Formats: sequence, structure tokens, C-alpha cells
Amino acid sequence: MADGRSAGADLTLTGVTKRFGGFAAVDDLDLEVASGQFFALLGPSGCGKTTTLRMVAGLEEPTAGTITIGGDDIGRLKPYKRPVNTVFQNYALFPHLNIFENVAFGLRRRGVKDVKSQVDDMLELVELGGYAKRRPAQLSGGQQQRVALARALINRPQVLLLDEPLGALDLKLRRQMQIELKRIQTEVGITFIHVTHDQEEAMTMADTVAVMNKGVIEQMGAPADLYDNPATTFVSNFLGQSNLVKASILDTHGDALVVDVQGTRIAAPVARARRTDGQVWVGVRPEKVFLGAAGVEEGSYDDNVLPSGTVTDVSFIGVSTQYLVKMPWGQELTVFEQNTGAREQFRVGDKVDLHWVAAHTFLLDADQDAH
Ligand code: ATP
Repeated sequence: MADGRSAGADLTLTGVTKRFGGFAAVDDLDLEVASGQFFALLGPSGCGKTTTLRMVAGLEEPTAGTITIGGDDIGRLKPYKRPVNTVFQNYALFPHLNIFENVAFGLRRRGVKDVKSQVDDMLELVELGGYAKRRPAQLSGGQQQRVALARALINRPQVLLLDEPLGALDLKLRRQMQIELKRIQTEVGITFIHVTHDQEEAMTMADTVAVMNKGVIEQMGAPADLYDNPATTFVSNFLGQSNLVKASILDTHGDALVVDVQGTRIAAPVARARRTDGQVWVGVRPEKVFLGAAGVEEGSYDDNVLPSGTVTDVSFIGVSTQYLVKMPWGQELTVFEQNTGAREQFRVGDKVDLHWVAAHTFLLDADQDAH
């Protein structure tokens, strides 16, 4: 179905600000979304995601800044004149119309006469081929959301805006629909801008994720890049669990930094350091760390070791076990060990050392809260 119509549909926001009274809900935002991308705006409640989306849709007027689609400034266009469509969390289907007519609605409004083949194709795309005659109330939540999607796509918008579209679904269905949405996006080739506060959802689906906090974008990039190389403590913690320990950089050795972590020396790659001297947060993801009995040499020469922890909690999570380990300086660190049966299990009270490959260490500027 990718017919090339979305070519050049890049969305840009330049210096976009939205003030409500004295409060900047969106603060001088710059954003560029390439054509045909699945782009996720991710952030906690109140960070300004929906306001950003509403400005693109024309439902909210920016206080300042420019928004373009395919190079055209759309700032002065009424919402219905913009080459965008929106899917909301609450579906907003017409209850008195059957599924076919719900999907056909946009075509009929444009005066298209022969809608059947287009609507049938669209229902096939969202895997609701056999449901055309039903009313919305006769469908499950997930199916209703697919109808909403089909209805929004039928007019082939250049950009589709999705505001927490899976928010009302239970977890399992949500996970299924994430995969589905990604498939549909790939098939239609339309640029999707997806707003969510669920980091797993954003990372599962998006080519590019922009992490928003307090009206600004803290970091933007491919999901794995953001996860492995967070720029701030906020991004590090919002995308998953992370261990952050106050430390100071002592020296540089080629492409590695020597770092003092509460009295122990470790190494960190310069390439993953947001600063190369002074005070830092040393970061490492819990699943990158493994436990060894205290004082026993494990791993390789390239490993970092933080010694003398005490296991304070062990939680079985199915695929992995989560350990909390209290370090000599009083901080509790988290370790996920895969339950492959290959590694030694530890119990509360055991003395352990924390090991990880030095390359998995990232360093963040210490001038920010741990979050
Ligand atoms: P959520 O995930 O909860 O929807 P969000 O990131 O989408 O959050 P927005 O809805 O964009 O956040 O709101 C951003 C901020 O702007 C919030 O503090 C909100 O209270 C404020 N805000 C939004 N709309 C208005 C309005 N019409 N008048 C005043 N303040 C508003």
C-alpha cells in the first residue's frame, strides 16, 4: 500500500512553544521527523506530549514557532485542511454506524463515490475483513481501536498522529497491538507520530524515540541507542532501570577513562562518557551486571568489579531474578540475572561482588539529580 504519497512528508517543528498563562507546557521545541518514520514522543504525564500533538493537528495554537509538513508551513491551516489525521485513546467511533460506514466516513465526506474496494482493503489491512456489518459496540476494545485506525488511514494522511491509542487496552492486548501497529505502519508507509508514556511501547514500535520532560526533548534517537547511551539521568531512568553511582574521573588511558567509584577504580569507554573529567554519575544497566561470591575472581581483565556488597533482597521474576545489593557506601544497586540455570544463585545476606564488562559503563554529568 506504500504508494509514495508520503514522500517528503517530513514533519518539522522549529522553536515551537506553548504557554498556558505563564506556564510553558512546550518550551522552544525543535523536532524533525523523516518521511515514513514511526516516531514516538515518550514522556511522563504532563510533559507536553499531547500539547505538541495538538499543535500539529491544529487543535492548539502555538504561542511561538513554526510547524511544517513536507516543507509547507501548516501553521495557518484549519485542522481539517492539514494533511494529518489523529487517532485518540477513546476511539471516538460513530456508535450508530456499522464498521464499514465508520471507515467509509472520510471518503464519503470528500465526495468519493465508489468507496467499497478502498474500505474493504483497509478492513483487510487491520484484519477486520469479516466485521463490516457490525456496530462498534459489538467489537472488543482492540477491534474498535483497529477500526479507529482504519478510519484515520482511509484518506491517506501524510502524517498520522496517535495519542496514547492503546491506553485503554489491557496489557496483553496492548503488547499484541504494538506489533500490529508497527506492521500496519510499515505496510502503509505513512509517517506515524505516536504519543505514549510507556517506554516499552515506544521502544517496541518506533524507529526514533524522542524523550520529553517538562516541555523539552531531553534526547532523541534510535531506541537501542537511547537505552545504551542515555544523555541524562532522566532518560536513563525513564527508559528502564539503571544503577547510578556518584564518582569522579581520575585519568584517561587511550579510549578509556579511569574512574573512582566510592574508593574503587573502574574503567569506562570515552565514547560513552558525557564528560571526561570531574564529577560524574557512573551508570550501568542491571542486566549487564553479574554477581560473584565476594573476593572470588571472575570474568575477564576487561571487567569492572565493585566489591563487598550484601544481598538484601531476591525476587524471582520468571525469566530473571532481581537482586538488590547494598554496597559499602550504603547505596542499594540492582542486578538482573537471567534464569538460565547456568549461574550460581545467591540468598539474602550473601556477600557478593558486582562484575560487568567495562564497555557497558556510561558516564553522565553529575550536575543533575539521580531522578
Ligand atoms: P498526559 O500523558 O498526562 O496526557 P502530556 O505529556 O500529554 O500528559 P499535556 O497534556 O501536553 O501533557 O500537558 C502539558 C502541561 O500543560 C500539563 O502541565 C498540563 O496541565 C498543561 N496544560 C495542558 N492543556 C492546558 C490548558 N488548556 N490550560 C492550561 N494548562 C494546560
